[in-house]
Amino acid sequence: MAGKFFFIDTTRCTACRGCQIACKQYKKHSVTKTKQYGSYQNPLDLDGNTFRLVRFSEHPSKQNSMVWYFFTEACRHCLKPACKKKVDQITKDAIIVNDFGAVLYTDKMKELEKSSKAIKQSCPWSIPNWSKEEKKMVKCNMCYDRVEAGLLPACAKACPTGALNFGEEAEIKKLAKERLAAAKKKFGGRGEILDIEDVRALYLITDVQAKYRPVA
Ligand code: SF4
Ligand code: SF4
Ligand code: SF4
Repeated sequence: MAGKFFFIDTTRCTACRGCQIACKQYKKHSVTKTKQYGSYQNPLDLDGNTFRLVRFSEHPSKQNSMVWYFFTEACRHCLKPACKKKVDQITKDAIIVNDFGAVLYTDKMKELEKSSKAIKQSCPWSIPNWSKEEKKMVKCNMCYDRVEAGLLPACAKACPTGALNFGEEAEIKKLAKERLAAAKKKFGGRGEILDIEDVRALYLITDVQAKYRPVA
C-alpha cells in the first residue's frame, strides 16, 4: 500500500520538543496547564489541545543509574484503523482515510461525545481525545492540508536532528532500513522497527517498547 509515512528514529531524538511545539503552533492550540509531577514531560498525556507529545521515561541500565528514553507520540495513521472500525459501527463517514493514507476525523465526530471513551479505548495507543473547544473527538490529521500543498507536516519540518521524518512509503522504508542497520551496529545488535505492517508511523527503538511509553 503506497502513500505517506512517518519514520521516527528514537536514537536521534534529543527531546527538544520542537515537534510538539510546532504542532501546537500550526494547529493554534492553547497550552495545557499542568503541575510538576517529577518529569520533564509536559503534559502528562495527549489531550484535546496536544496532538503530539514527547514522552520522557527514566530507567536504570547496567552501566548507568538512569537512562532517558524519548518517544515523540501521535496518531500512527493505521492501515486498518481500529478507531474507524469502532466508529463505523455507530455512524458512517465520521472517520475517512484520504488518498495518501491520513486517517481523518470529520465533523460527524461531534455527534459522538457519549462514545468518546469507547473510541479512545478502541485505539491500541489511546490516541484520540474529546476536545472541549472543538466539541468533537480529535487527534493528529497528518497535516493533510500542508501535505496536499507539497509541504512537510509541521512537526516533521521542525525536527532538527533527523529523528522525525515524513515522505513516500518507499523512501521512508529505505531510510528506516538504513537507520536500523546503523542502530544495530552502534547498539550491539539491538534495534527493531515497530508495527511495520500495520501503521504509517514507523518507530525505530533499541530497547523494549515498554521503556519508551506506557503500555496501552
Ligand atoms: S493510532 Fe489510534 S487513533 Fe490513530 S488511526 Fe490508529 S487506531 Fe486510529
Ligand atoms: S502531522 Fe500535523 S497534526 Fe499531526 S502531529 Fe504533526 S504537526 Fe501535529
Ligand atoms: S523535534 Fe525531533 S529531536 Fe526534537 S523532540 Fe521532536 S523528534 Fe525529538
